[in-house]
Formats: sequence, C-alpha cells, structure tokens
Amino acid sequence: MVAWGLRITTFLTNLLVLVGFAILYEWLMQVKLQSKQHRRFRQAYLVTMTIAFLLLFHFASIFAMAAAHNAIGVGWTYLNFQIATVMYALLTDKHRSVLFSMAAVLLVWYWWLPHTAQWPWYYAVTLVLMYLAQRFATPIGRLKRRYLPFSLVFAAPFIIMNYVSLRGIDVGWVWEIASCLVIDWLLWQVHYGIKRTRAKTKLLQAEAHIDELTQLNNFRVFNEDLLTTYHQSQLSGKPFALFTFDIDHFKSINDRYGHLMGNQVLEAVATRMEVVANHLPFKHARCYRTGGEEFTMIIPEVVPSFSLAQTIAWRIHDELGDLQFTSDAGQQFQISVSLGEDRSHSDDQNYLDVYNRADQYLYNSKRAGRNTITINGQTMPQR
Ligand code: GH3
Ligand code: MG
Ligand code: MG
Repeated sequence: MVAWGLRITTFLTNLLVLVGFAILYEWLMQVKLQSKQHRRFRQAYLVTMTIAFLLLFHFASIFAMAAAHNAIGVGWTYLNFQIATVMYALLTDKHRSVLFSMAAVLLVWYWWLPHTAQWPWYYAVTLVLMYLAQRFATPIGRLKRRYLPFSLVFAAPFIIMNYVSLRGIDVGWVWEIASCLVIDWLLWQVHYGIKRTRAKTKLLQAEAHIDELTQLNNFRVFNEDLLTTYHQSQLSGKPFALFTFDIDHFKSINDRYGHLMGNQVLEAVATRMEVVANHLPFKHARCYRTGGEEFTMIIPEVVPSFSLAQTIAWRIHDELGDLQFTSDAGQQFQISVSLGEDRSHSDDQNYLDVYNRADQYLYNSKRAGRNTITINGQTMPQR
C-alpha cells in the first residue's frame, strides 16, 4: 500500500516537473532574440537545462531507491521521465546541438550501466532513433497514432538495457509501459496545446496587419511605417517619397459588374502594384491598401528628381490602366486611377504632413477630370 502510494505520488510529482520542463523549453525557444550571438547563447542554455533535468531525475531516483532500501521497481519511473525528456527536446528543437549533447550524455549512461556487454548496439539503435526523432519531428508529432508508438519504440532500447542490467528483475511491465504512454501522451498535449496557441496568435497578428482581400499591408501598418520612415528621414536629413492613388468611379464598377467583380479588380490592382514596386530602382518600396479603393506606396529612399517621381507615377498609372477585366456577362472593361505624389520636407512638423499633401494632390487629379497624376502639386495633362 505504502509502496504503491509512494509510486503514484512520485509519478505525479515527476509529471509536473516534466511538464514544467516542457513549458520552459517551448517558452525559451519562442523568446525573440536579436543577434546571432544571443541565439547561440539560448541554445547553450536549452541544452544545459535539458541535461540539468536529466540529472535531477537521475539523482532523485538514486535517493528514492536508497530511501526505499533498493526496493524493486522504484527507479523505473524515473527512467521513463528521463527518456521522455530526451525525446521531447529532440522533437521540439531542430538544432544539432541537442542531438550531439544528448548523444554524449547517453553514451555515458549506456557505458555506465553494469552488466551490459551489448550496450554499444543498443546505443547505436538509440542514436538512430534520436536522429529520426529530430529529423522527422513534424510528421511524427503531427498525429498521436504515430507519435505514441514511436515513443514506445524510442524508449525500448533504454528499457531493455536497464532490464538486462538489473539482471531480469520483476519490472512490472504493465505499469512500466502504461506510465511511459501516459507521460508521452501528456507531453504531446502540452506541445500541441502550445503550438496551436502560437499558430492562432500568428494568424491574429497577420490578420491585424494584412488586408485579407488584397494581401497588402493595411492602414495600421502604413501608419506605423510612415512614422518610422519619417523619424529616419528626420535623422538622416534625406527626404522620402509617397505615392497615393484612388481608382476612378469605382462605385460604378461595383454597380455595373457586381461587388465580387469589384473585389477582383482590387486584388488585381494590388498584385500589379506590387510588381511595379518590385521593379523600381529602389529596394525598399512598400505598398499598402490605405482605404477601400485607395492604395499608397512609400519609397523610403531619396527619389532625387521631379522627373523620376513623375516617371514612377506614370508607370503606376499606366500599368493599372493596362489591366484588362472581363465581367461574368463577358463585358470587357478597364480602370483608371488618379494619383498624388509628394516628398517629405525638412520642415514637416508631423509624420502625416507628406501623406496629407499627397492626398490633397490626389484630389487635385480628381478635380482635373481624373485619370491623371499630380506630382509635387503639379497636375499633369491626361494622356
Ligand atoms: P471617385 O472617382 O471619386 O473615386 O469615385 P468612386 O466611385 O471611386 O468613389 P466613391 O468613394 O464614391 O466609392 C468608392 C466605392 O468603393 C464605394 C465602396 O462600396 C467601394 N468599395 C470599398 N471597399 C470595397 C471592397 O472591398 N470591395 C468592393 N467591391 N468595393 C469596395
Ligand atoms: Mg475612387
Ligand atoms: Mg476613394
């Protein structure tokens, strides 16, 4: 009775320790670090932590066995936790330092076990299984029906070696295998619970920044980028450029061809706009959907001349004007845009000043009959 009570309470306590290890591991892997050096430091910390937990289980088992006057079976529970620790680290972390450090630790473990002449073979099998666990962590971990049998196979060489080393003592196989499965099942829940939450957070973050229809950055990102660009420009003294345009009579496209067709137009405009941005002689041009049918591009580098700004603006205008659309009823149509451009001024008081000016110029283009561009306040004749 006391022996079983001890066994179960020890098991539960160890389970909590192991879950703590797993959560700590995942959390440390997730923390964002800036430099390569810091990331290397993190990896060293993760490996040290894994070895520390293995040693913790090891010494806990030695003391528990001594306290129980070497009663049979006391150490087995700890062994299962050690196996699970090794496997968890390998399945979670693809860094080769995990494989190498665990290979070194387990070499000592196998070598140290008394009465096991065949240990090099079992160690070799363990090495192969460790490699497979790390290499195929994703497909193994994705499905419980793959993961649980794998965890048993992974544990087998350790358990067999321990069994041989103890000269075939009564293990209590049912308890041994059942506890192994319970431990691995729980670790799986922890791992995938955390993974699911992380994926959800990532999705929400993306949704908060990316416009779903066009997959362009949304106004929130535009606002943040504009502020950053403004500060950088103030520091460097180099102006940046902003182009903003709006599709002409877009409402009538919706009215005539339907809202879904309108959506397709917006998608095509966004895609073509990105293509134009990628082919500019500037590396950091970024595109945004700043309104329903209004788009903006920031070029954080210096656009050195009025004529270059004009060339870029006409290129955007012409490329979008060249897009061909066919409605569900087979009608062909094209669009036009009105555009405004301006560059930041050294005496701008607010990061939104340049956007306000470019937006004002966009409306100058509209007032001039649409389908044209206004650069630095100068509206061009339609072409
Ligand atoms: P203007 O030349 O003056 O810009 O005229 P306009 O018709 O383009 O401008 P207006 O502001 O009157 O209409 C914009 C329309 O864009 C109204 C709105 O229903 C439509 N719109 C906004 N967002 C979307 C969207 O995501 N999908 C579709 N299909 N239409 C949208
Ligand atoms: Mg419009
Ligand atoms: Mg508009």
